[in-house]
Amino acid sequence: MKTVRVSPDLAADGEFDYRVPEHLAGTLAVGSQVRVPFGRTHRRAFVTAFPDAPACPPEKLRDIEAVLPAPPLFDGDILSLARWMARYYLCSLPAAFRAVLPAAVRREGADFLRRLRVRATEKALALPEADLAALAKRSPRQAEALVFLRAAGAEGGELADLCRRARVDRPVWDALEKKGLAEKTMGVRARSPAAPADGVVATAPPRLTEEQEAALGAIREEMASEHPRVVLLHGVTGSGKTEVYLQAIATALAKGQGAIALVPEISLTPQTQERFLSRFGGQVAVLHSRLGDGERYDEWQRIARGEARVVVGARSALFAPVRPLGLILVDEEHESAYKQEEAPRYNARDVAVQRAALCGAAVVLGSATPSLESYANALRGRYRLAEMPHRVRERAMPEVHLVDMRHERSGEGAMRLFSTPLVEAVRARLAAGEQTILFLNRRGYATALACEACGEILGCPDCSVRFTYHRARGRLVCHTCGAERAVPETCPHCGAPYRKTGVGTERIEETAQKLFPNAHIARMDSDTTARKGSHDRILGAFRRGETDILIGTQMIAKGLDFPRVTLVGVMNADAGLQMPDFRSGERTFQLLTQVAGRAGRGEVPGEVFFQTFQPDNPTLQAAAKEDYKAFWESESAMRQVFRYPPFSRLARLVFSGPSEDATQAAAKAAGARLKDIAPAGTKVLGPAAAPLAKAKGAWRFQLLVRSESADGKTSLPSLLRTFLRACPPPSGVTVTPTIDPVSFL
Ligand code: ADP
Ligand code: ZN
Repeated sequence: MKTVRVSPDLAADGEFDYRVPEHLAGTLAVGSQVRVPFGRTHRRAFVTAFPDAPACPPEKLRDIEAVLPAPPLFDGDILSLARWMARYYLCSLPAAFRAVLPAAVRREGADFLRRLRVRATEKALALPEADLAALAKRSPRQAEALVFLRAAGAEGGELADLCRRARVDRPVWDALEKKGLAEKTMGVRARSPAAPADGVVATAPPRLTEEQEAALGAIREEMASEHPRVVLLHGVTGSGKTEVYLQAIATALAKGQGAIALVPEISLTPQTQERFLSRFGGQVAVLHSRLGDGERYDEWQRIARGEARVVVGARSALFAPVRPLGLILVDEEHESAYKQEEAPRYNARDVAVQRAALCGAAVVLGSATPSLESYANALRGRYRLAEMPHRVRERAMPEVHLVDMRHERSGEGAMRLFSTPLVEAVRARLAAGEQTILFLNRRGYATALACEACGEILGCPDCSVRFTYHRARGRLVCHTCGAERAVPETCPHCGAPYRKTGVGTERIEETAQKLFPNAHIARMDSDTTARKGSHDRILGAFRRGETDILIGTQMIAKGLDFPRVTLVGVMNADAGLQMPDFRSGERTFQLLTQVAGRAGRGEVPGEVFFQTFQPDNPTLQAAAKEDYKAFWESESAMRQVFRYPPFSRLARLVFSGPSEDATQAAAKAAGARLKDIAPAGTKVLGPAAAPLAKAKGAWRFQLLVRSESADGKTSLPSLLRTFLRACPPPSGVTVTPTIDPVSFL
C-alpha cells in the first residue's frame, strides 16, 4: 500500500502521512492537491513526498479522499529549492515555503473545496433507464444523486450545492466518479484577463546584429548542454539585450520548454510587458505586484497547465510552476531589488542559478553594469561571458559632460541647482521639440530643515533620520517610518527661524518651471505615482510628446526607451557616493550608466550632463564613458585591499530592541562568542551602531561576519546557524541574520 506525505498549507502546520487508495494511486505527484480527513473535518493539502517508511504503522493511517482536479502548483525541485533557501539564508522552512508558493496561491487553493463542481459524464447522460433502475436497487443514494446530476445538464453544478439539494454526502459523488458517471471540474470565476494580449501589435524578430548573434549562439550552446554554464550577458545600454532574451525564449519554446524572465519590479512597465506580449502573445503570463489574489492564482493555474509557457515577472516569479523549464533570464542582474529584505532574505539572481541547476535549465544574467560578484565569476571562468559593446543600428553612445559645480556655486538661486551648460542644453531641446529627462534621487522639496542660528536639524524622534520637507503637503515626512508633522515656526532651542536645505525633486520641478516657463513639465516619483494608474498616465503623456521635461527619481532611471529623449541631466551625480556602504561606488556607477543610457536611443544622438562637485572622481569618469572595465579595475582593487565581496563573503547580524543599552550589550556578547567559535579565515567585525541607528523606535546594532575565501559559500550559513541555535538573544532583543547582505543601513 502506497503512502503519501502531505502538508495542509505548506507553511505552518507540519506534514502528515496518509494512505493512497488504489484508484487514486496513478493520479498523484508531488505538488498535487488532495482532500484529506483531518481530525473531524476535511482539509485541502499539498503532496510533498512519497515516504518509503511512513511516520506510523500503515494500519493507523487514514486514506486520502480525493485528488483535486488541478495541476500541481510546484514540484520536487521547488521543494528542494525551498529547503536549500531555508538552509542557506537561515530562515525557517515555512518561511521558505511561503516564498516559493505565494499566499494568494495557497489561500485561493483552499477555496477549491468550495469551488469544486461536478457534472454528469456523457456515459451518465446516455445511461439507459434499465441501468439506472439496476443502480437504484444496489445503491439508491447514488441513483438519486445521478438523477439530480443529469438534471443539472452538461454544465453540472457546484458540489456543495448538489450535496445539499440531493441530500447526499461527498463519498456518493466519488463513487459515481469511480463508475465513470460523474466528473469533477474546477469552477472558473469570471475575472478580467490579467495580461490582455489583444490590442498588442505582434512583432516579428528583427535580424540580429553580429554581436547579438554571437551572444545568442553562446546561450543556445549552453541550452543544449547537459550541464549548462551560467551566461553573463554584458551589453551596453541599447545594445539589444532584450531582443537576445526574446530569441532565446523562442528557442526554448521550439524545444517544448518554458522560460522565466525576471525583471526588477520598477522596470516591469507596460512597455516591458508589451515587448514580451507582442512576440509571444497569450503564452505570456505577467506576474507583477499589482495583481489581485484571484488574478495571481489564475495566472499560476495557467502556467501549471502549460498554457502560459513564458513567465515575466519580478523576484517571486522565479518560483512559477513552469514545466519543463528550459531557461531563466535575469535582466539587470546587478539590481539590489532582487534581494528580498524580509525573511527569507534571498537574492533572486542567486536562487535562479540554484533553481536552474536543479532542473538542468540554462541561466542568462544580463546587465550593462554587471555586479562585481557576477563579473568576478565570469573572469574566474565559472560563468560564460558574452559581450555586446555597441548599440544596435550604429546608434552612438551619448556624449557625457561632467559639469564642475564648484564653479557654478557663485550663481544665485536657480543657478545653484541648474548649471549654465545644462540650462542652455534644455533650452536647445525645447526649441528643437526634443525631450529632456532630469534625474535626482531624492523626493520631496528640501531634504532637511536646519535652524539658521544653531544649525539644529529636525529629525524624526523614532528614527535616526532627518525629516524631509514636502511642499505639496506642507509637512515634514520621515522617509523611514512615514511619520508626518507640521513645520515648526521657529527652533525650540534658540527661537531662530528654520532654513530649508538639501534639494528634492519637488524643488527641482519648481525651479525648472521658473527657468523654462513655457515648457510642459511632469514629475515622477513615489509621491506623484501613489495613485493607481498615475504611473502609466505620466509615462503615456511623455511618450506622446505632451511633456517636454520629465523630472524624477530612480523610477525614471531604468529601462525607459523613448527615442525622442536627447538630453539627460543628472542634478547631483555625487549623491550616492557618500552612502555608508562599500557598494556606494558601484551603485553610483550603475545608476549613472543607466540614466545616461536613456539619452539618444532614437535617430538624434544624445547628450548627458552630470552635475558634480567631484569631477575627478574615477567612478564618475568611468560612468561618463560607460567604461565598465575602467570601473572594474579601480573598484575591484579597492575591494581586494579591504577584503570585500567578491573577494570574500559577508553575513550581517542586526540586533534591535527598544532599549539601547540592552541591545548593544546583546550585540557585544554575541560578537565575543562568535569570535570564539569562528574558524580560521573568518573574521567578526563590530559590533557597531547600524548606520540607521534607530528605526521605528528600535535601536539597531550590527555585527559583520566575513569569510575571506570566496568559497565561504557554505561555511558562513552553517557557522551562523550553529551560533544562533546555541545563543539566542535575550528577551527584548531580536537578531536578524542576512547572508550576502545588500543593504547596510
Ligand atoms: P538594451 O536592453 O540592451 O538596453 P534593447 O533591447 O532595449 O537594448 O534595444 C534597444 C533598441 O533597439 C530597442 O528599441 C530595440 O527594439 C532595438 N533593437 C534591438 N535589436 C535590434 C535589431 N537586431 N535590429 C533592429 N533593432 C533592434
Ligand atoms: Zn521615522
